[in-house]
Amino acid sequence: MKIEENALIDNSLRIQSRCKYLVRIQNIEDLNKIHDLIKSNKKYFIQGEGTNIIPPTFYDGLILKSELKHINLKKNILSVGSAYNWTDLVKFCIKNDINGFENLIDIPGSVGASPIQNIGAYGADVSSLIESIDCFCLKTFKQVNLKNKDCKFSYRDSILKNSHYLIYNINFKSNLEENISSDYASIQKYIHDNSLNIDNLNKQDISAIISKVRAKALPNPDYIFNAGSFFKNPIIHKNQINFEYFGEEQLIIWDYSDTLVKVGAARLIELIQDQLSLSKNVSIYKNHSLVLITNGKATQQEVLNFASHINDMVFRTFNISLEIEPNIIN
Ligand SMILES: Cc1cc2nc3c(=O)[nH]c(=O)nc-3n(C[C@H](O)[C@H](O)[C@H](O)COP(=O)(O)OP(=O)(O)OC[C@H]3O[C@@H](n4cnc5c(N)ncnc54)[C@H](O)[C@@H]3O)c2cc1C
Repeated sequence: MKIEENALIDNSLRIQSRCKYLVRIQNIEDLNKIHDLIKSNKKYFIQGEGTNIIPPTFYDGLILKSELKHINLKKNILSVGSAYNWTDLVKFCIKNDINGFENLIDIPGSVGASPIQNIGAYGADVSSLIESIDCFCLKTFKQVNLKNKDCKFSYRDSILKNSHYLIYNINFKSNLEENISSDYASIQKYIHDNSLNIDNLNKQDISAIISKVRAKALPNPDYIFNAGSFFKNPIIHKNQINFEYFGEEQLIIWDYSDTLVKVGAARLIELIQDQLSLSKNVSIYKNHSLVLITNGKATQQEVLNFASHINDMVFRTFNISLEIEPNIIN
């Protein structure tokens, strides 16, 4: 275990942020040593690669970071350390003919964070790949194995979000049948525009297509500072939507269940964008209105103020409240 005082909190929004102590967990035995640290500091936050967090200028507590990077394939189960990079895992699976990971290529971040908000993209999400999760409970200080159904996965959510579980290993299913999923509209468009034959596409081809489509739509956080989609697509009753200012055909609405619909948040923001006041250090990415970007000088408060301004305008226009997707560190 390594402890650094007044350490920087890495984050892809590039908010200048430090914490009282950064605790690097380098092996499983270290988990048994964090008891005293937690008891004496009380406040803690578990961090992965920092691509989905909004940290404060100073966090007066412990930032816990796993550095476990093992990867072991045994009897239909692929066990992976939480600090392993997610896209490296997708590439490992494609190379080793393990199915189901290909559509999730290029989602930034670590394996350990993947179940927290049930990462998903292009018609797939991680919940279908997970057999179980090995965690260390920071309340009982015991190791716990959570089965897939225990995690209560749903759209961008699971019981692991804001929980006391530090994930140190995830057991993935490595024997799923091949099921190439190319239904997503932007994949279909790419296939059509490039005159490709869907029947000839394999995992590698689909992941290469998705990489290209993603690179056009989403900014690389190494150069344009962002935390991915800033708001979730709201799931609501359709009759609640105010169509007074914009007609139904101008919104993007998917059926979600018998009674609920999912509304494209990007389109809602696009429609009200020209009514927003500018913020000094935060703005909306030109190619994707769901992505907020900073110039590297923004504070947590500035990011949240701008998000709140967007939310107010969306609410006033459509009677829809948006929920922030990245994790706010308090
Ligand atoms: C450009 C861009 C594109 C993105 N695209 C997508 C996308 O297509 N789909 C999608 O779902 N997300 C997307 N995201 C969001 C982000 O990639 C995911 O949320 C990712 O899982 C975050 O991983 P991380 O390691 O950076 O986690 P962090 O940002 O460090 O943490 C995120 C959350 O996970 C928790 N956490 C992290 N590690 C652990 C652990 N070991 N144990 C317990 N809790 C932990 C943290 O407490 C926090 O609540 C995108 C982000 C960016 C910047």
